[in-house]
Amino acid sequence: MACPWIHCNICLRLPVSKCRYFISNCGHIACERCVEKKLIAPKCSLCKRETKVEEINKNLREDLRKYFVNIHDFAVKSFNEVKSVIEFQNKNARRLMKYKMEKIKELQNTTIKHSDDSAMIAKLQQQVDELQARNVELANENKTLNTSFLNQQNLVNQLLSSGNTGMNVTCTPSFLQTSANGGNNMTQHDCKLFF
Ligand SMILES: [Zn+2]
Ligand SMILES: [Zn+2]
Repeated sequence: MACPWIHCNICLRLPVSKCRYFISNCGHIACERCVEKKLIAPKCSLCKRETKVEEINKNLREDLRKYFVNIHDFAVKSFNEVKSVIEFQNKNARRLMKYKMEKIKELQNTTIKHSDDSAMIAKLQQQVDELQARNVELANENKTLNTSFLNQQNLVNQLLSSGNTGMNVTCTPSFLQTSANGGNNMTQHDCKLFF
């Protein structure tokens, strides 16, 4: 326990061979002589506190001994302790970070999948809308064709009832003809008469 800074706080004596030093619970250091003169205990002459003293040697209490350790060794030991604590905490932090990153990646993949599903649903919905619109168009076209067909049937019936007996009459609905007028308007030219 080589401590070049040790000295008696009362008489300022420096350590010499065969001279013991003491430390009190008030934190002051005194030489053997000052202890014998009761200048440090039972009452410290410096701080006036009630004190007990212990000799500074290898048997010094641990809580007092720590003040006399080699500061370099103490620094290295402390650094290693801090380092081990940091490594321990970092190891746990990295483990937790890894778990969270995996969770985020998992959630991102799920989100991407949902996005793909949403895009697919939107595409299918668009196709359904187009098919429904086409169905409406087809229904309207069918209605128009039926009306046109009924009109032509009425015209045929009118021609038959006008006395043209003996004639074979066929009538092609205008929508099945390729006439220039599109065949939508019923005219006598739409009917082809055969004897
Ligand atoms: Zn002294
Ligand atoms: Zn004191």
